[in-house]
Amino acid sequence: MTQSVMKTYAPADVVFDKGEGVFLFAEDGKRFLDFGAGVAVTCLGHAHPHLVAALTEQAQKLWHCSNLYKIKGQERFARRLAENTFADVAFSCNSGAEANECAIKVARKHFAAKGSDRYRILTFAGAFHGRTMATLSAGKQAKHCDGFGPMLDGFDQVAFNDLDAAKAAITDKTAAILVEPVQGEGGMRPADVAFLQGLRALCDEHGLLLMFDEVQTGVGRTGKLFAHEWAGVTPDVMAIAKGIGGGFPVGACLATNEAASGMAPGSHGSTYGGNPLAMAAANAVLDVVLEDGFLDHVSKMGALFKARLQDVVDAHPTVVTGVRGRGLMLALECKVTNTDLVAKCFANGLLAVPAGDNVMRLLPPLVVQEEHIEAAIAILMRSCAELSEK
Ligand SMILES: *Cc1c(COP(=O)(O)O)cnc(C)c1O
Repeated sequence: MTQSVMKTYAPADVVFDKGEGVFLFAEDGKRFLDFGAGVAVTCLGHAHPHLVAALTEQAQKLWHCSNLYKIKGQERFARRLAENTFADVAFSCNSGAEANECAIKVARKHFAAKGSDRYRILTFAGAFHGRTMATLSAGKQAKHCDGFGPMLDGFDQVAFNDLDAAKAAITDKTAAILVEPVQGEGGMRPADVAFLQGLRALCDEHGLLLMFDEVQTGVGRTGKLFAHEWAGVTPDVMAIAKGIGGGFPVGACLATNEAASGMAPGSHGSTYGGNPLAMAAANAVLDVVLEDGFLDHVSKMGALFKARLQDVVDAHPTVVTGVRGRGLMLALECKVTNTDLVAKCFANGLLAVPAGDNVMRLLPPLVVQEEHIEAAIAILMRSCAELSEK
């Protein structure tokens, strides 16, 4: 059945044809607890009534018109992001990689427009910024870059959480620093608060742009609207995607007016960017995530889930050795191969996502309730028990 699909994926042998809240249903009727959320995307679960209504209403009015004309939904989306973050402006696009591409272009253009020859961007080992050529070049992970060379020039990389190395790598050609507040694909590795604060200070000292990739950490995932709020520092530019569309492909690059000062009409664009359907979905996500108490729910569920995951670690130390993460962006450190645990959970009806550093990510929809967490813990206990019997 998948023979005509280019062989870039190795999907599990299941076809889902319906979703409801935190559950996915396979064609054969089998029910799965979806704690992968399509890799941190379906933040309001499946078929959330408010999202379905917003998208259905928009689908009957207008699908697409392009940025040759004003798009009300896009203006509202950008204004709401500005009202709730450090940013003044937002560029709408369709994915995380595109959001980071825009961030990279914003940085280069910022300096070029000022007549400066700063263009290099500092990134960190273990980073993941997407699969386009520029974002691969930024991430520098061999497993993603192999065979796609030559990579794009202009990216330097040092160890994650190593402020001295970052400081030493800054030259008179450095334009910006790009970092994930928590490395997601890299293994749910949080940046130290002092590291993020130190990067902010370095950028201020050298006149560089600080750019956060919050494609995975954003939109409430860690219990704050954006994860950098935990560190009390703001960036100049930020890439978001994944959760912001709730399952509809949406990305955005946010920036201060000063950081985006080089971006004049014609300097960047996207045919689909700000598409009315996408904006209806994104605005509907914001309606829910910005509601009073929503982020408190994420923090509460996150703390409960993390404590219960520790119980799994305590019960099965030969299978899992620790818990990482914050809010509902959590991971189990595995002693077994992480993909074996993911497969075992899958067989037992729980979806999770492997990541670097041999961890298994647990990224439930942010609307998850205690009963779902307990159901997931029961499956995890059983899956670990089955693996430790071997
Ligand atoms: C997923 C992800 C991306 C890439 O997003 P796409 O929508 O797949 O292009 C970039 N950065 C981070 C931190 C991500 O988690």
